[in-house]
Amino acid sequence: MKTLCILYFHNVTCSGLDGPKVTYFEKQIKLLKEYFKIVDLDTVAERILSKSMPKQPEVAITFDDGFYSNYAYVEPILRKERIKATVFISTSHIYEKRVKRYNLFDYWEGKCSLKDIEQPYPNSLGNRVSTSEYKDHYMSEEELMEIEKGNLKVESHGHEHIKVFTAPLELIDVWSDRVAIEKYGRYVWLKKIYGENRVRKYRYLPVFKFASFHKTNITKPLIYELELIIDLYKKGRNIKDIQKSIEIKGYSESMEEAKKRIYNDLVNSKERLESLLNKKIIHLAWPFGEYSSISIETAKKAGYLALYTTKKKAITENSSIYEIERISVPKKDIELFIKLLKMIAWN
Ligand SMILES: [Zn+2]
Repeated sequence: MKTLCILYFHNVTCSGLDGPKVTYFEKQIKLLKEYFKIVDLDTVAERILSKSMPKQPEVAITFDDGFYSNYAYVEPILRKERIKATVFISTSHIYEKRVKRYNLFDYWEGKCSLKDIEQPYPNSLGNRVSTSEYKDHYMSEEELMEIEKGNLKVESHGHEHIKVFTAPLELIDVWSDRVAIEKYGRYVWLKKIYGENRVRKYRYLPVFKFASFHKTNITKPLIYELELIIDLYKKGRNIKDIQKSIEIKGYSESMEEAKKRIYNDLVNSKERLESLLNKKIIHLAWPFGEYSSISIETAKKAGYLALYTTKKKAITENSSIYEIERISVPKKDIELFIKLLKMIAWN
């Protein structure tokens, strides 16, 4: 009975399409509150640094990405239940319009209907590139200031939330239909890597193995390599065959360039949030939970004190402040959720 755990959510919606339904989320929060002491991330960090695990199970609640739903539903519910949580924001996703939209408080006060809050939430939004067409799914600066004053504290999820090609370049597919790229949100970041124009220009688009922007060196295929691949693909050669028959070197970023890129990204996010919220940002959760020893060193240099992963474990005396474990919350299955609670309570 000495568990310390961090749970993480993403989106919470009325439809339940992308994350738990609001009504279900409220139940989850009530159950957590009933059986555990809810603590904030400063408390968790202190416990890890001093190696003092709690006598009764403690749980910290976090959210990744900064969806509008966190302002609309989550913060009002947290405030009603008198518990605090943290949301990790990727600053490139902040909705640029200076607006404060409707939330549950407005609904409870009769100022709007639930429909005025609800928005269509496509799946895997967290994987989308922050083009303006999706940005209204995220919180604005005004909304971030509002939740920070309330019960949902803001910390960093880096600036970019994208995947880049890993080195060495490993060909995994060739999209032959631009619609497929649009349809599979997972690959929308190709726009970011290739540039919007090339995605539009090429009917065929070679796809290489991805990793998080913060994990790896960036390698970009050269134009003539892309053309070679497309040419062979059109001739009916399969992916494995193409990979074997041509050497794809690409342009590879040096280690120094990679460190500089990651450093700039992490400082950018930190400074933007600090000036907006007038507080120190010291907690960082890695996008996609992907990181490397280089990104850890870089985050320390950028001034972050506690780094959060998605290693699905409870925190122990042996946990590192630079690789803090977090457990994802089952989105729909109440049985699984209760199983998780039992696991935390009787660990
Ligand atoms: Zn994320």
